[in-house]
Amino acid sequence: MNIKSVWIIPAAAILLGGCGSNDAVEEPTVKVMARQTGLLSTTTVTEITTTEAVTEAAVYATPSEIAALPAASQISPEQIDPANLSEYFTAEAVPDAVFSRINGVSYHENPNISLDDLRYLRVLHYDPAGEIRTGELLCNQAIADDLLDIFRGLYDANYAIERMVLVDAYGGDDDASMAANNTSCFNYRVIAGSTTLSYHAQGLAIDINPRYNPYVTFAADGSAQISPENGVPYADREMFFPMKIDRNDLCYQLFTAHGFEWGGDWDTPLDYQHFEKPVS
Ligand SMILES: [Zn+2]
Repeated sequence: MNIKSVWIIPAAAILLGGCGSNDAVEEPTVKVMARQTGLLSTTTVTEITTTEAVTEAAVYATPSEIAALPAASQISPEQIDPANLSEYFTAEAVPDAVFSRINGVSYHENPNISLDDLRYLRVLHYDPAGEIRTGELLCNQAIADDLLDIFRGLYDANYAIERMVLVDAYGGDDDASMAANNTSCFNYRVIAGSTTLSYHAQGLAIDINPRYNPYVTFAADGSAQISPENGVPYADREMFFPMKIDRNDLCYQLFTAHGFEWGGDWDTPLDYQHFEKPVS
């Protein structure tokens, strides 16, 4: 970065910097002192063109540097270039390193969806503590742009998502992923309690903050089965709690605006964490 700065250095500081009796004070330190002490209104004007000025400018992490971090890494706000925010929200063909993580776990050779149909997404999100974190998703290429747009909208609104790593981090075990409140999309699996392939198996469904937005099925006698187990208290949708999805929630609004159905709108099951997009 080429920056030409004009710094106003107080005479006293220059004197100090040039003083042989104080060799320990290096010139850059003096310049910093001059700026920090607020003594910038008097005496000498010095024009300096120097690489030191780079320290004055924000040094952002590049999107590829951020993408090289494991998902769920905490990012300092100073690392993010606000002028190029969209570059931190990316979709690509499944990289070899990701394939080796999912092969035989969430992905199995099958007649319904190929690896070429999937996209690997990297996004930024806020966690419940307000920290910025990296997130990753695998989804069908048909909804990749939708998800990038939605997660950018959620990020812009500081929407809290606790964790967003591939379900493979939990051995492909949906219950474990839900219990960890992990947001995830693709998983080649059947619908719980059936032999029907889930929309997740096609990468066309996503579960958001699943512990606080549980999956509720009803037995013939009307009794409810709630997953995950640690999400049982949050099946009470009259209660207020953080990360709750309802029709007033931004998550609901963004997904439905992009043509997704919300599982919380169904009669049975009631799947508060779930959004899916029917595509032909
Ligand atoms: Zn789901």
